[in-house]
Formats: sequence, C-alpha cells, structure tokens
Amino acid sequence: MTNLTHLTIKEALTGLKKKDFTVSELTAAHIKATEAARHLNCYITETFDVARKQSKESDARYAKGDGRLLDGIPIAMKDLFCTEGIQTTAASKILKGFKPPYESTVSGNLFRDGAVMLGKANLDEFAMGSSNTTSAYGNVINPWRRKGDDKPLVPGGSSGGSAAAVAARLAMGATGTDTGGSIRQPAAFCGITGIKPTYGRCSRFGVVAFASSLDQPGAFARNTEDCALLLQSMAGFDPKDSTSVNCPVPDYTQFLGQSVKGLKVGMPREYRIDGTSPEIIKLWESGVQMMRDAGAEIVDVSLPHTKYALQTYYVIAPAECSSNLARYDGVRFGLRVEGENLIDMYEKTRAAGFGKEVKRRILIGTYVLSAGYYDAYYNKARRVRKLIWQDFTEAYKKCDVLLTPTAPTAAFAIGDNMQDPVTMYLNDIFTIPASMAGMPGMSLPVGLSSDGLPLGLQLLGRPFDEGTVFKAAHAIEKAANFTALPQTLLSKVA
Ligand code: GLN
Repeated sequence: MTNLTHLTIKEALTGLKKKDFTVSELTAAHIKATEAARHLNCYITETFDVARKQSKESDARYAKGDGRLLDGIPIAMKDLFCTEGIQTTAASKILKGFKPPYESTVSGNLFRDGAVMLGKANLDEFAMGSSNTTSAYGNVINPWRRKGDDKPLVPGGSSGGSAAAVAARLAMGATGTDTGGSIRQPAAFCGITGIKPTYGRCSRFGVVAFASSLDQPGAFARNTEDCALLLQSMAGFDPKDSTSVNCPVPDYTQFLGQSVKGLKVGMPREYRIDGTSPEIIKLWESGVQMMRDAGAEIVDVSLPHTKYALQTYYVIAPAECSSNLARYDGVRFGLRVEGENLIDMYEKTRAAGFGKEVKRRILIGTYVLSAGYYDAYYNKARRVRKLIWQDFTEAYKKCDVLLTPTAPTAAFAIGDNMQDPVTMYLNDIFTIPASMAGMPGMSLPVGLSSDGLPLGLQLLGRPFDEGTVFKAAHAIEKAANFTALPQTLLSKVA
C-alpha cells in the first residue's frame, strides 16, 4: 500500500472516495508516525482517542457516500485554539489543565467539514517567539538537518509544532495563527506552505489572544492546493468575533492554475535588507524569474516605512498582550498559587505561571501604555502603523501582489539568536509589515540552501484577495517543483 502519510490532502480525499483505504487506516498511519517521532515534540497534548472517534464517524459518512470538504483528513491543531473539553494551554504553565467549555470557531469549522484532530500542537508561549523555544512544554525540533551536521534546528515560531508536524508527515495539515509571522516563518523554516489570510477573514473567537488587532488564524499544508482546502473550511464571517468581516469566501481552489499572464508582481526595494543571506537574495531573484517566465510583469515598488515596522510592532503587540494577559490571575483559568492575600495570590500565580519572554512583553506593554508614555509610544506607534498600511495601499495601485523573501535566513540551531531578544525579533523583518497592515500573505518552499535547508518566498496580496495570492503562489510552486524531504524522513521513504 502507498505510504499514507506522504499523500497530499487532495490525494487522500480522492483515495478515500475511491475506497482505496479508510479514514481509520489513514489516521492509524499518522498516529504511528507521530509515536515514532515524539522526539520532535510537536504536540503538547495528543488526542488520539478523539482522532479515532472522529475517524469512525467519518468512515460512516463515506460508507453512505456523503464525504465532506475535509472528511477524514488528519490535522494538528495549534494549542492556541480552544477545543471543548480538551486541554488548551497556549504553551504556558499558567493554562496547564485548562479545558475550555467551548469550541473555537475555526476548529469547529474544521470538525464540521470532517477533519480529524491528532493533537494540540506545541507553540511559543502565548505565540510569542520565532523559534518555538519559549514553550513551557519544551522546544520543538525541526525535522530538517543541515547537510553533514546533526545539530537540532528550530522549526520557527510561534506555530512551530504545527509546521514541524506537517513537514515530518505526522499530519496532513495544521492550523496556525500569525500575529507577526508565526505561520509564514515556520512554514519557510520547515519547507512547507502556510497562509495567513487577511485580518478578519478567519474568526478569532476561541483563539487565546496575544495581540488582538494583529492575530489571525491560518493554515499549513504541503502545497497551495491543500492550503486552499483548509482555508476554505476555516474562513467565513462569525458574529461572535467583532472584527470578523462579512465578505464572501470564494472557492480558493479555482485560482490554482489560472494564468498569471499580465499579473503585476511588485518587488519592494526596501526588502533588500542588510544581513539577509545572499542565498535568500538569489532565491528571491529566481522567484522573480519564475513569475516573469510565466508571463507576469515585474514592477519595482517602494514601501518606505518598512524600516519602522519592527519597532512599532514591538510597541503595539506587547501593549495588547499586556492587556489581554491581565485575565490570567489565578481566579478564572488554570494555575493558582495561593498567597497571603488577593494581591499576593495574583503576583505569585503570575510569577510562577508566565515564562521569561511573556513577562518581558507584559512589562514593555505595561510601560508603553502607562499614563506618561501612552502618547509618546503607543499612540505614535499607531500612527506609524497607519503609514505602513498606506505604503501597501499605494503599492497595490501599481501591482497585484508583492513577492519577497519570507525570512532573512534558513532555520537556525536551537540556542542561536538568543544573545539578546532583538536578534530574535529581526527574524520577522519581512513578515511583520503585512501583519501591521492586516493584509494576506503566504509562504511557500522554493529551494534549498547550500547546506540543504528549505528556503521560502512570500507572496502578499490586497485585503481579502487571497485568491490572487493563491494564483501567484501556485505559479511559483509549479516552476520551483520543490520535492525535497526532511533528511530525518528520507531513510524511511526509500
Ligand atoms: N515572532 C513574533 C513575535 O514574537 C510574531 C509571533 C506571532 O506571529 N505570533 O511576536
């Protein structure tokens, strides 16, 4: 029988319809693969019993001939999505043991369409990080290795468990959230595809909040088509999220394979940033050539406020996080450390429950929101954010999509970039501007570095125009024909 864990979502759906295999077999293959790859630490909580139950229900639907959009597809759920009755930790000690009494809209949509949940995927604590090294449940290991070097590498972050699980063939797809790059950067580091839709496209209801004006759920898979199927299920208006936008969700798969002839692809000149690996610049140029060969027109555009994006993000995101995380006080959720009085209990609970990076952000956020500094930092950052949004709006008068690198380097080793937090923050230099502007973005694998690691390119689009992003990404996907596998898997497939 074919290696079931290596199928794409689309192939699996076809196989299930043709009764080549059952959902229970497909799920069992993924459970087996997960058990053999526990050292990657992709999951905080495995939910194999849930998966088996959902598989049976799904098999029954196929037997009746009424398979749904994602019926029987095994996925990983970032442990930031509340799942009813199933522990949801946000990778923090403070939420250990928390079992939400309700389901997030996105996970609910996926279950409605028949997806099977294998587990709650590891992440950076409260989605704060770029390397999945801030989780209270341990680091996630990237299934890729440098050629001739066995040093464990980071999967990127914050959705590191989701990305590593999909790359290591432990799940066919996964949910992620992207506040400043947490879907696109791990997708690039793990050699898979990830889409962050427009802010407002997927409901944030039931997603543990980090920075509410930036957080956006999205999907990981191993190609654009599978991402389109997942996003189709996840997206849509939700009255339970006041920032959800009531805008029809098109059939994303219809954009795949459409001609890009005449499509205007912008190359933002400010994205030639010092410190970007020359290999990544070369990859970017090859991506541009692929678009040109497919008939697209390349235009030079300027996003002049790019240089302020990171700084303003690190005012706005911590500000919102300090406010959102105020709710973890030992009274309502998870951890409680008793104290001599109420204040003492709050302090002890928060001191014991939050990790170092989360505390740093709460401190910065509280500072920039404090009476004397609110205007100087927070309000100023909001004004700059508007300018960043205007940059994109102007650029999209000249082009239909933007093509850029996803990250300035390939995956780095665990422990690297830890000298000071700013070095780590620089990793998101190419992803944060579009997050600040709320615009959709996608990363897809395009090539390998000289030491054998995957490198990704990013496509950004106009608000609610994920369709054009899919169309352009699919053209590059076809030309790049990225088929490399993580070294840790190669021996098993041969
Ligand atoms: N790495 C960025 C941060 O640490 C973005 C994280 C995210 O998108 N959730 O804030």
